[in-house]
Amino acid sequence: MNLFPKQIKLSEDKDSLLIYWSDNSTNSISLLKLRKLCPCATCLTEKEKQSPSYIPLFAENQIKIKSINQVGSYAISIVWQDGHNTGIYEFPYLKIIAEKAG
Ligand SMILES: [Zn+2]
Repeated sequence: MNLFPKQIKLSEDKDSLLIYWSDNSTNSISLLKLRKLCPCATCLTEKEKQSPSYIPLFAENQIKIKSINQVGSYAISIVWQDGHNTGIYEFPYLKIIAEKAG
């Protein structure tokens, strides 16, 4: 199934991303979770260095979104207020993290 978002927007409290999918399902992903699961090489390398007991702490401007841009027809990129902008979130990845606990 070729699932893609029909609409993506910030929730009213600006704490999460609402995704309206082409199959009419809806997901809400907290911005903290999105940032924690940033798929860019920098963040992945950072995560590999950490022990399993590592608790990620983020400053306020690291979990606030500055802008969301579409990347081709397969992903979005997120620019965070601290300037981090290398995370490309492919649509299937968004669906996976949306349904993942935590
Ligand atoms: Zn990243």
